[in-house]
Amino acid sequence: MTQTILHAKLKDHFGFEKFRPNQEEIINCVLSGQDTLAIMPTGGGKSICFQLPALVFPGITLVISPLIALMKDQVDSLKANGIQACFINSSQSEEERQFYIESLQSNIIKLVYIAPESLSFLDNLFNSLTISLIAIDEAHCISAWGHDFRPAYTNLGYLKKRFPSTPILALTATADKATRKDISEQLNLINPKIFIASFDRKNLSLEVRPALDRVKQIIDFIQEKPNESGIVYCLSRKTTEELAEKLQKIGINAKAYHAGLDNKIRSTTQDEFISDDCQVVCATIAFGMGIDKSNVRWVIHYNLPKNIEGYYQEIGRAGRDGLPSETVLFESYGDVIQLQKFASQGLNAEVQLAKLERMKQYADALSCRRKILLSYFGELVTENCGNCDICKNPPLFFDGTVIAQKALSAITRLQETEPLPVIIDFLRGSKNAYIYEKGYQNLKTYGIGTDLSWFDWNQYLIQLINLGYCEIAFHQQNKIRVTAFAKKVLFEGEKVQLTTVQKITIDKQEIKEGKTKTVTNSLFEILRKLRYEISKEESVPAYVIFSDAALRQMETERPMSDQDLLAIDGVGKAKLEKYGDAFIKTIIDFHKSKVVKRKKEATTYKETLELYQNGFSVEDIAQKRKLGLSTIMSHLAKLYVDGAAIDLSQFITNQEVSKIAEAQIKLESPNTLKPYFDYFEEKIDYGKIRLALAILEKENAVI
Ligand code: ADP
Ligand code: ZN
Repeated sequence: MTQTILHAKLKDHFGFEKFRPNQEEIINCVLSGQDTLAIMPTGGGKSICFQLPALVFPGITLVISPLIALMKDQVDSLKANGIQACFINSSQSEEERQFYIESLQSNIIKLVYIAPESLSFLDNLFNSLTISLIAIDEAHCISAWGHDFRPAYTNLGYLKKRFPSTPILALTATADKATRKDISEQLNLINPKIFIASFDRKNLSLEVRPALDRVKQIIDFIQEKPNESGIVYCLSRKTTEELAEKLQKIGINAKAYHAGLDNKIRSTTQDEFISDDCQVVCATIAFGMGIDKSNVRWVIHYNLPKNIEGYYQEIGRAGRDGLPSETVLFESYGDVIQLQKFASQGLNAEVQLAKLERMKQYADALSCRRKILLSYFGELVTENCGNCDICKNPPLFFDGTVIAQKALSAITRLQETEPLPVIIDFLRGSKNAYIYEKGYQNLKTYGIGTDLSWFDWNQYLIQLINLGYCEIAFHQQNKIRVTAFAKKVLFEGEKVQLTTVQKITIDKQEIKEGKTKTVTNSLFEILRKLRYEISKEESVPAYVIFSDAALRQMETERPMSDQDLLAIDGVGKAKLEKYGDAFIKTIIDFHKSKVVKRKKEATTYKETLELYQNGFSVEDIAQKRKLGLSTIMSHLAKLYVDGAAIDLSQFITNQEVSKIAEAQIKLESPNTLKPYFDYFEEKIDYGKIRLALAILEKENAVI
């Protein structure tokens, strides 16, 4: 098949402009009739690898898939793209099943999804059907080595015997060699060509935070992104329920999910999540395999995962549509201890402990996290990724000897009997009841650490623990004890290198402000709403209509004709026909409203300017125009920047302007005013900040 024909098919049927890495090679291999094993990370785009060949082959493509819910979504997606597909499984009524079986015989269906347990339904049909391709999704389920072993998968070996000349394409996201070997052997693949795509998922940001005040951090995180779907993975069932409840209490649409819940509740939660009716799922790792949702925007690990494989698979559920998505892992010492206990009591203890150790090393890393992840999966990367917390905020080492000495002697003074929070309170000279009750305020070294914040002390103490100078006695109420190495620092002049503490709070503030601006009435949100309404009418998940990525592109490019809309990635002919009008109309309406708004703005500025030119004071203008003083100020600032002759010196002194100029440099020119307001501890009002920035903007423009 020539390259252009494949590309044309990709665009016409799926709306995509380009193949993702390995897709085209796999498709060509399959089309040549060769057995193929495709290993791609979650979200890598495995489905196209059999869906596109299915459109080229004369007969039917049989897709073996482990989960009924997943089949339905895939079939819905295919139908939305105008491709004839169905699934056959035991959840259907006898009549329904019969209906689909008959439609298979009439040769209109290109793809049929089926669970291995249901293959027998087709048995006596096999003689009369042309099966052109057999795709086996989640092929690792065949291997007892893998993590999702399904006994019914082990029977699939007979397919090759039954259809010796039909190519088989096995697909999985599990890369390890033992599983790979198992897959080809058990499926009786003949000289399979193996494709291993890179496991790098560049669009996923990676971040590890200390598990300090996790719930609050999670709430802040979610509140910054009110409409974005996400998953919080927790270790225990109890945590999922407690966390979901806490989130619900403050109005976040969250639900718990774990294997102990009633089947019906679980499937409702899953459906609601898929259809954007439930924003956040707090889940154990039982959640996720049956989910193909492409617009999961973030994944949080409330607890440290057991191993890197699991962690990578779980974060992989974010951002399948390729848009930037966030992942945050909370690391706590309590978790490490608990997981160590589990691992040492379970099967294969040594391996499990070693895997846990690698996980912990990842969390404690001081170099690019993505490099560590990919090297774990056997990929060598030379460049730092730029999209992990370490790359964004590289740790700066400094001589932390004095800090270490203070901390270690505090621990010693407290007779190694207190947990971390008390040590920090002691160092910071806290006057709380516990300190007084114990009489700690009378001890030497009490209050020698007032120069550092509570948060910073917490971080430095954790670093000292990681460096081995002190340790947590988990079995004795988490008392902190010094180790033998502490002596070297306290008495033998050993130097300690610490790294500076990350400034999470500042970053967060900036994100918050940037976001609140865009969230309310952006074109993206309007299109999202339209998509949601259509998805309800058609009873399919919203992302089946268009992905978030497609909506984002519509937002920036504002296509207003069929041709322009077709140029958006993810819009093929069938979707253009079905949804084109509604989306184009919405975009045109939005565009018009913006034009009107801009005109209105121009008029309102003009009115203010006229009054100003006629000598009215700002207060008078505000009163006459029934607008706030700060609005009039902002008009004047804008008019000034645009070149109107306005004397701003009556409202703000030169001194104030230079103070704000200084702040601008220190704050690295933030996009919003709030950081300035905070910087001046709320002593300079927004109006003045705005005016000063206008003056500075104009000055810079002149230069
Ligand atoms: P996997 O099964 O490997 O996890 P999927 O096949 O579900 O991944 O694809 C993940 C997402 O990527 C889907 O939303 C799909 O529509 C999208 N996708 C697949 N191939 C392409 C492509 N060539 N260009 C753009 N998006 C693609
Ligand atoms: Zn990095």
